[in-house]
Amino acid sequence: MADLKNIRKSISQIAKLLYDKDLTDSCGGNISVRDGDKIYISPRRSGESHQWVVEEDSIIVTDLCKVPLIGDVADISREAIIHYHIYQNFEDINAVFHSHPFYIMVYGAAHMDIPMVSEATRHFLGDTPISCTEELVPGSKEMADSVIENFNQRRKYDPPTPALLCNLPFHGVFVASKEVNHAFITLESAERNARMLIHRQLMFGNDPKADLSIRRRLTAEERHSIEKVGEVCQPGFTYTSAFGETTTFGGRQSEKPGNKQDLTKKITEEVLRQLKKQRGK
Ligand SMILES: [Zn+2]
Repeated sequence: MADLKNIRKSISQIAKLLYDKDLTDSCGGNISVRDGDKIYISPRRSGESHQWVVEEDSIIVTDLCKVPLIGDVADISREAIIHYHIYQNFEDINAVFHSHPFYIMVYGAAHMDIPMVSEATRHFLGDTPISCTEELVPGSKEMADSVIENFNQRRKYDPPTPALLCNLPFHGVFVASKEVNHAFITLESAERNARMLIHRQLMFGNDPKADLSIRRRLTAEERHSIEKVGEVCQPGFTYTSAFGETTTFGGRQSEKPGNKQDLTKKITEEVLRQLKKQRGK
C-alpha cells in the first residue's frame, strides 16, 4: 500500500514494488503523481543507474508546465512529456506510470490487442481490449499525442473506466488513474491478464473448448452497481443475534440514528452481566 499522505514516499514505494514484481525493468520507466497544481516525478535513469531504489529527496516537483519548484528539471526524463500531456488532458488523473511489463510487452511486440479475461482488468479498464499506439519515437510529441488519442478512445465508456492503459510496441506501457494505488492495481492486473492468455495457449493450444471470450457483458447500470455495498440478508430473515436472541433482520439497521449507542449499551450490559456471573461463582 503506497503512502498517500507522503507523495515522495509513495513514489519511492511504488518504484520498488514495480521492480520487485517484475512490472518494469532497469531499462527505463517513470512514475509521477499530481497533487493539486503540483507534479511530483521520479528522476531519469531511476532503473538504469539506481535499479529503482528511488530516494525520496531525488523526486522532482514542478508545476503543470514542468517549471521547477523543487529539484532540477534536467533530471527529468524526456518521456515526461507524456506524463504532463496526460495531466493536461485528463483532470481526474492524478497518477501516471510508464513501465516495461514483460507479458504485456510480448503483445506489444506482436502488435496485438490484449482481450480482457480477468474481472479486475475489466473493472479498471472496461471490456475493450488493451490496444497499441503507433510505433513512434520515445518521448516525442507524436508519442504523447498517440497515448492521449488511445486514452480518449477508452474514455468513451459509460461510465468512464477508473483507469487508462495503452501498449507501446517494442517498448512498454503508460497507465493512468486517479491515484497511485489504482494505477498500480490496474498495471498488475493487466500484466496478469496477459499472462493468463499466454498460459491459455501453453496449456490448451488451439483447443476450441478453452474459450476465454466474454460471454456476458455488464450493462452500464450493472457496472455502476459494483461500487455499491449491498445487504447480505433479506429484511424479514430470522436468525440468532450475537447476544443469543431470536431476531428478525429489518434492513439497514446499522444506518439508523441511535443504533450505535444502543449497541454500546447492549455490549456494556452484557459485559457487566458476565462479570457479575463470574464474581458470583
Ligand atoms: Zn520506456
